[in-house]
Amino acid sequence: MIYSWQIELWKRLTNQFDRLPHAILLSGLAGCGKRDFARTLAKRLLCESASGEAEACGACLSCNWFSSGNHPDFRLIEPAVNDTEESGNESSPEKKKKSEQIRIDQIRALDGFLSVSTHRHGARIIVIQPAEAMNQATANALLKVLEEPTDSTLFILITNNKKRLLPTILSRCQTINFPKPAPELAMAWLRDSGISHAKELLFHAGGMPLAAADESLDWDRLNAFFRDLNELEVAGPVAIAGRWEAWLKENKDGTAAVDKRTLVIWLQKWVFDLLLMKLCGLTVYHTDRPQAVRAAAQHATLSGLFSCYNELLRIKAVAQHPLNPRLFLEDMLSRYARAVASGR
Ligand SMILES: [Zn+2]
Repeated sequence: MIYSWQIELWKRLTNQFDRLPHAILLSGLAGCGKRDFARTLAKRLLCESASGEAEACGACLSCNWFSSGNHPDFRLIEPAVNDTEESGNESSPEKKKKSEQIRIDQIRALDGFLSVSTHRHGARIIVIQPAEAMNQATANALLKVLEEPTDSTLFILITNNKKRLLPTILSRCQTINFPKPAPELAMAWLRDSGISHAKELLFHAGGMPLAAADESLDWDRLNAFFRDLNELEVAGPVAIAGRWEAWLKENKDGTAAVDKRTLVIWLQKWVFDLLLMKLCGLTVYHTDRPQAVRAAAQHATLSGLFSCYNELLRIKAVAQHPLNPRLFLEDMLSRYARAVASGR
């Protein structure tokens, strides 16, 4: 589907269907609906009946194939589910993990797909998401394919972080930038989708509506997270780490309800706002709770918060590793506790 904040972009793109390059890159922050846009675009380009700015007809043979997930002229390449990797913790619900990398053989497997003519004599579409999940070797394999463009073939790459892509890949793609949605459009969509606490969630998601909708499932946890940070000085990092470890073990459809990385990101956003409050009295992610931010920041020094923020960046990079979750959380919370008391 095309979201209200994407309509202009959609019109611009549909008006240049006859001059599309061989590869486009949808670039923008996570949570603005790039994946849905790519799907809608792919379906529209494969559709045998739609024209102009209209979306795919939804009724032709091609649309039916697409909707049932087996269009022969469409490929979706994304990190595969890795079910052989154990998380190191027997009782962990995080056993079936999505790999973080797109493998080189996933790109090489395109050779066969590209060497035969299309089934309906129409377009052939390959979506690669996220493009930053390709390491250098994989990106180079893709580059070889992009350097020998095949007729009627469109590669749609999606990235949340364009800076992590090889310059050679970037130079082969026409970049389409997805700006942050206007807050009123994002709010309207969240309300129409029946999301409660839309405003607070939108703040916390940095203004990105789909990310806010995702996070709505964790609303209770998020509030408990703020409560625990508030109690940290009295309860201590060990006790709070114990509570959070219990969250990691919760099951929600077989996957962890809140994973370690999410907790690091939440703390990172929180520390970011403490810094901003210290610097200029503003907040970005917690605009609905300025008092709590001010209170948490009052005994912290700027340098203490800066080093905590940098430590969290490093911690986030290893959050998916099979580390002892209890020690991981205790370490993170101890660092935070030191930062907020650094001015005492
Ligand atoms: Zn159709």
